[in-house]
Amino acid sequence: MQQLQQLIQEAQPFYKNGHVATYIPALSEVDPKLLAVSLIDGNGHIFQEGDTQQFFTLQSISKVISFIFVCATYGTEHVLQYVDVEPTGDPFNSIIRLESHQPGKPFNPMINAGAITISSMLPGGTVDEKVHNLQSFIAKMVGVHCEVSDEVFTSEWETAYRNRAIAYYLKANGYLQGDVEVALEAYLKQCALLVDVQQLATIALVIANDGYHPLTKEQLFDAKIAKMAKALMLTCGMYNASGKFAAFVGLPAKSGVSGGILCLAMDAQIEELQGTIGIGIFGPAIDEVGNSVAGMKFLEQLSRQYQLSIF
Ligand code: GLN
Repeated sequence: MQQLQQLIQEAQPFYKNGHVATYIPALSEVDPKLLAVSLIDGNGHIFQEGDTQQFFTLQSISKVISFIFVCATYGTEHVLQYVDVEPTGDPFNSIIRLESHQPGKPFNPMINAGAITISSMLPGGTVDEKVHNLQSFIAKMVGVHCEVSDEVFTSEWETAYRNRAIAYYLKANGYLQGDVEVALEAYLKQCALLVDVQQLATIALVIANDGYHPLTKEQLFDAKIAKMAKALMLTCGMYNASGKFAAFVGLPAKSGVSGGILCLAMDAQIEELQGTIGIGIFGPAIDEVGNSVAGMKFLEQLSRQYQLSIF
């Protein structure tokens, strides 16, 4: 796995081109130099390198998981009445186009407006039930209940002026279901779920395998939902850099402002790893769009070296 190690070493210094997120105060305390990578294939072969013992919050990566879970619970037709599947090219927390698109219908579940709507639909009447149900769904993939970081949640809850504005606007237009504050709290708690790169890679592996968990041999959700999630990741997963990511990497991926990236490759051959491969990355220095700089660099080089682009 020497080549992979080299790719990581080459990507790490690119952290200097980014900064840790500061709009969520608790995230600003993380060491920007960290970089961790985990790759896992359907036979359970794992490659890990870097600061792999680090835990970090899912942030926007949770959006793809909650979308899958809500679709698995209620069916995609129902869910798509409340959120569209069109990319925007706008920042993840943008409000501006909510008014111009079928008054108030969120463009897609990978931006905050769509994700807060999806969180309002998480099964359960209370915040605790909603979060617990999502944790149980994730546990089917990673084997454990991921904890909520109270520090990150509280830090974001106290400064969630923009997300609160989005949530009330969604409610006014009939897209957000139930109580606004419940939806917002569930959303911010799902964003604050703690994972490591191996857990992220395992979630990616299940999505890559169309909902089938190759290690537990269980079908966890419908292939149709996984295909929609992959399409959304490809078109909207890297925020308003999704086009460039498709051009330069060409893989479905979802990033979060904590510096995590969930990515997947199909029909791949990366040294000993073969077939569908789940990739988890953590590199907390992010660019102005919100994507891990070192993480993107690593994926760009990985895709080039092993010809992974789906195009
Ligand atoms: N919790 C963050 C927010 O709502 C998630 C954003 C992100 O990772 N892009 O602002």
